[in-house]
Amino acid sequence: MLFDCGEGTQRQFLQARAGTNRKMRIFISHMHGDHVFGLPGLLHSLSFMGRTSELEIIGPKGIADFVTSVNRVVKLYSRFPMRIKEVRYGRVVDDEEYEVHAAPAEHGMPCLSYAFVEKPRPGKFYPSKAQKLGIPEGPLWKKLQTSRSVTVERRVVPARLVVGPPRRGVKITYAVDTRPCEAVVKLAGESDLLIHDSCFAEAASTKAKEYGHSTASEAARVAKKSKSRKLALFHISAMYEDPAPLLAQAKRIFRDTILPRDMATVYVVPSARG
Ligand SMILES: [Zn+2]
Ligand SMILES: [Zn+2]
Repeated sequence: MLFDCGEGTQRQFLQARAGTNRKMRIFISHMHGDHVFGLPGLLHSLSFMGRTSELEIIGPKGIADFVTSVNRVVKLYSRFPMRIKEVRYGRVVDDEEYEVHAAPAEHGMPCLSYAFVEKPRPGKFYPSKAQKLGIPEGPLWKKLQTSRSVTVERRVVPARLVVGPPRRGVKITYAVDTRPCEAVVKLAGESDLLIHDSCFAEAASTKAKEYGHSTASEAARVAKKSKSRKLALFHISAMYEDPAPLLAQAKRIFRDTILPRDMATVYVVPSARG
């Protein structure tokens, strides 16, 4: 899953060895250049690298027109099917393992924030317990692992006897470019990781308002209000050579804040949610 595709994404994509032919979805927040200019290049390269499997692009109104216009004029020669979905809000993806929800951000133009919500995963399976209950290894074990009960010699064995409680999935919310707003707080509710616009430092709060962005402190307040567990500052203005003060400002309000560098890997562990 790729959220937004600014200039340079293609290069980072290769460096991250994200794989050419894997199942892939691209989510676009809005139609500002710094969020879509990387798309033509990436689509073009994927074709050249031999992608054949379908690719889904999800975004606000305008995304379909953007991709088809580029394709008409410069030809992307895509050898893989592309499905472009223009969405507004609500559940925009319902996959076997996860859902993605969208909510309107506040950016002076249609802009979407997205929440990736992993579905609960089946609990841990205990083979020894299954053996003790006389359930033969094979298809019945498989069935139990998906939390379904099985029948052995006319005896029904519920899955809970051999499988632990379901494990929670993770929730990650991606909210750029936006002012701090209620819709995002709601969307981000109890995220394990909130990635939030933090374009400016406290001193430039008027600028943040003017351009439809947030300060690092405002991002921290959204993290707090939404009861998120970790905050990643993101979309820092290029005017800050050293963004360390932004991190300090956010941390004063929300302790578990990070400022990831490019290509950083962040491990997200699901935690108990109400
Ligand atoms: Zn923007
Ligand atoms: Zn932007």
